[in-house]
Amino acid sequence: MTLKGARERRVATGGVELCVAELGDPEQPTVVLVHGYPDSKEVWSEVAVRLADRFHVVLYDVRGHGRSTAPKPLRGGFTLAKLTDDFLAVVDAVSPDRPVHLVGHDWGSVQSWEFVTVGRTEGRIASFTSISGPSLDHFGHWINARVRRPTPRRVGQLLGQGAKSWYVYLLHTPALPELAWRGPLGKRWPKILQRVEKVPGGAYPTPSLTSDAAHGAWLYRDNVRARLLRPRPDAYAHAPVQLITPQRDAFLSERLYDDLEQWVPRLTRRTLPAKHWAPRTRPDQLASWIEDFVMSVDGGRPEPKAIGRHADRFGGQLVLITGAGSGIGRATAFAFAEAGARVVAVDRDAEAATRTAELSRLIGAPDAWAEPADVSDEQAMEKLAEKVHREYGVLDVLVNNAGIGLSGSFFATTSEDWRKVLDINLWGVIHGCRLFGARMAQRGQGGHIVNIASAAAFQPSRALPAYGTSKAAVLMLSECLRAELAGQDIGVSAICPGIVNTNITSTARFAGVDEAEERRRQKNSARLYGLRNYPPEKVAEAILDAVARNKAVVPVTPEARGAHLLSRFLPGALRGLARVEPKL
Ligand code: NAD
Repeated sequence: MTLKGARERRVATGGVELCVAELGDPEQPTVVLVHGYPDSKEVWSEVAVRLADRFHVVLYDVRGHGRSTAPKPLRGGFTLAKLTDDFLAVVDAVSPDRPVHLVGHDWGSVQSWEFVTVGRTEGRIASFTSISGPSLDHFGHWINARVRRPTPRRVGQLLGQGAKSWYVYLLHTPALPELAWRGPLGKRWPKILQRVEKVPGGAYPTPSLTSDAAHGAWLYRDNVRARLLRPRPDAYAHAPVQLITPQRDAFLSERLYDDLEQWVPRLTRRTLPAKHWAPRTRPDQLASWIEDFVMSVDGGRPEPKAIGRHADRFGGQLVLITGAGSGIGRATAFAFAEAGARVVAVDRDAEAATRTAELSRLIGAPDAWAEPADVSDEQAMEKLAEKVHREYGVLDVLVNNAGIGLSGSFFATTSEDWRKVLDINLWGVIHGCRLFGARMAQRGQGGHIVNIASAAAFQPSRALPAYGTSKAAVLMLSECLRAELAGQDIGVSAICPGIVNTNITSTARFAGVDEAEERRRQKNSARLYGLRNYPPEKVAEAILDAVARNKAVVPVTPEARGAHLLSRFLPGALRGLARVEPKL
């Protein structure tokens, strides 16, 4: 199988011939992509074509894989030293005068760690992006540190990674992996990847999958045990490293990289809500991070620097917020922007949405877009979802925040009032969950949905029958959806803010009173909310935290937390309070 539009050549090294493919302009910076196990260079196809517009992209089949030849004998033919020889032979051929930007996935990353930490490649590597493959030396030290000082947390980490490494033990057995791959496993592998990893069909399997996988077992046998038992003491990276950690990797624990700063003087961390085969499932995101990193190292662009305590978690993620033109929505857009997320700001007020997007970019979002839409308009929401999925991608986080206030007794509230508040506060959330949640689930790489409910969802009030009903429905919808999506790694959180100082008071409807009285009440409630002065930024912080920790229901202000407690343990007290008519 050849990569479309690629120029191929053979590079001879150490008794094998490597199949090397090149895309893009050789005058541009060179990016070398190294594949893992059991793959060939084609695992990078989707990433490579995206990078080829800007870079000279080089891929090669690792010895014994794809259309590269295998060493004879196999035993001892796959040591990290030999793999380093291969890498140097390839870069000498494709970029003799300039250092290359190295990217590795799985075993491609494991061997690339060797390349970037041994002396003989110094000056040949400009940067390294590592995806799902640790340095065996760092891994060895990580294990030693936990065995030497076994606190309960560290033992837990050891056991956790130990359980994820079952395949490594199997691959060390003689003949068994070869038999399995030549038999049923080889035949079913593409289906397994599609079902378990949600890898799209197509380029799999490579015609040589079964022999590749059998050869590749020697990658493990020639290196893993020896290196883990005797890790090199000086495995320091001599180039900047970007570490991309998929959060749902079945084979590697995120904790493995806890100690990495001690080995890498210039480390950029990113996490991705994805499983192990991110080059196939998240090529857009990977290509964009690789591009950003290469451009920052080559001096063109400032280094992507997300700040705040959620930067690791949300950097580069795609987040859409409705009602992002004001209050809690705008503050949430800014908080995600500060954490380095890509932000889609949706609001029916187009100008306000544009302003939020502009400011998000200034604050730190690598990209931010404004999309005007009315969340209560189903067709407009369908169009929005179509555009977002086509142009920006599938969401990692959706925040259904747009909402309006409505106050007034039940009998003063007209059917028109009811329709309006339910259309926006409830149907807006339903449209968002349905249209964006479906694609999230289909993608199979997890995600999170946040619905902004209210303390009025569990705190009844004679003054808020329509608003409270809409928010109680949002709370229940969130709980039901959370149960439905749990098996698909999609979290759902309902946020119940409490009294927060935003514009909501100036736009809220007061049913059953004339215009002048409505304006007076809006002014008064704005003054009271101002006196309470709880900032929307704190709600935004609670939202990011709810996503990071997958919380189900989050009352935010102290009064919301108090009411939440009362609703569970003293509901009679809340019912009493509900009868008090607020004086505005
Ligand atoms: P806000 O008025 O400051 O912001 C709401 C934003 O939503 C505005 O930019 C508005 O243009 C937009 N919007 C309204 N209807 C829309 C629609 N149909 N389509 C698209 N955009 C629309 O209000 P806020 O206080 O930031 O409210 C945000 C959410 O928080 C709402 O759901 C609200 O019910 C909820 N909430 C607010 C408080 C509070 O005290 N402020 C308390 C509990 C819950």
